[in-house]
Amino acid sequence: MPRQLIVISDLAVLPNESGLRPVTLTIDLDSGRITSVLKGHEVIPDDPDNQILRLHEGHVLLPGLIDCHVHLNQPGRTAWEGFQTGTQAALSGGITTLIDMPLNSIPSTTSVDSLDVKRVEAERSGVYCDVGFWGGIVPGNEDELVPMLNKGVKGFKCFLIDSGVEEFQHVTEGDLNAACEALKNTNALILFHAEVDCGHSPEHTHADPSRYSTFLASRPPELELSALEVILRVARSYPQLRFHIVHLSAADALPRIRQARASGIQNLTVETCFHYLTLRSDDIPPLATQYKCCPPIRSEENRQRLLQGVVDGTIDYIVSDHSPCTPELKKGDFMSAWGGVSGLGLGLPLLWTELGDKVDLPRVVSWLSSKQSAQVGLAGSKGSLEVGADADFVVFDPEANTLIQEKNLIFRNKVSPYLGRQLRGKVLSTHIRGEIAYSSDQVSFSQDTLGRLL
Ligand SMILES: [Zn+2]
Repeated sequence: MPRQLIVISDLAVLPNESGLRPVTLTIDLDSGRITSVLKGHEVIPDDPDNQILRLHEGHVLLPGLIDCHVHLNQPGRTAWEGFQTGTQAALSGGITTLIDMPLNSIPSTTSVDSLDVKRVEAERSGVYCDVGFWGGIVPGNEDELVPMLNKGVKGFKCFLIDSGVEEFQHVTEGDLNAACEALKNTNALILFHAEVDCGHSPEHTHADPSRYSTFLASRPPELELSALEVILRVARSYPQLRFHIVHLSAADALPRIRQARASGIQNLTVETCFHYLTLRSDDIPPLATQYKCCPPIRSEENRQRLLQGVVDGTIDYIVSDHSPCTPELKKGDFMSAWGGVSGLGLGLPLLWTELGDKVDLPRVVSWLSSKQSAQVGLAGSKGSLEVGADADFVVFDPEANTLIQEKNLIFRNKVSPYLGRQLRGKVLSTHIRGEIAYSSDQVSFSQDTLGRLL
């Protein structure tokens, strides 16, 4: 007899269903896949070999979540984050698949050889959740792009402005066109850090660098709006390729994105981050550099318009952009400290706290699962509870409260703007291919690294 796990829940998030449904899932533990999804409660055959997991009343069964924007930094800057701590932090938030960004590790993932280095390092270290990789586009690496795609990268990230690390140079529009030419016989996905240094930043002033407003004034929305025009030009020139704006912060870009789509641009998607939807510039104290990231966290009015952009579908999905560093690099003022927000694993309760009274849980979950699995070619195997998919799932209590304290942060360096926040909703357990990978009871993880490289 095959080893089977039967999961029974009164409340489940199922594909293409609004509201929460009763379900009985059957999982083949040998293959790690879902073999049946019965809407309702099946009479379970009395087979002593079947394991049964019956969810408690009020607990919700969710598909495993996906975070397409994470910087794990290993090898090279493993003191910032690593495969083990990063994938455990992901699991603690219900994330069963993450896609690692090509920069801040050394080497950055801009060639087949560097992709191999990263894969070998991840295998050696072990991963607790599934991990895929983005490649990078830097000036002159266009000949590496198709070979990297053939080796499994999910797409390519590039910067239109200084990336902050010297080994990952930003591209000009000429470099970008060379990359698109190299990829023109594919349907590759190209991701943009969408800020262009367009001369709108104020001249270096004598404003106080300990104040957040000084930093905010140095990265105005015009940088994002100028980048959007570059991206729209290339999206029009290469309709067979797919283009994606990472971490949109400036809500002023939303009307232009809607208009471009209405005028026929079908190959542009957009993400924003939990920090842009839950934090606001006016609340940021002097020297609180844990809030510093690029593009910056903006005003309350901007935040409200971004939330509207999520709810109306202009923004496709939401990611963490977990981009940590050592506490030492976060010292200093807003102009000198490293830019990047740490929050891997906190996204679901952050978003549920923010939007839970406006939209239902299946919609919130879709932004954190099925929308992202489709983006990286994993629809059918990840991000949804359906027959044939990997049995990655989460048990979530939507009414539990969690106070974010250092002890709840699993990622390596416990520097985060979310410390001290009271959130609604708690991930109770996370399961990969039917096996328990994380339990919130005493914050425990499976001894085995159950993750795989995608
Ligand atoms: Zn990033």
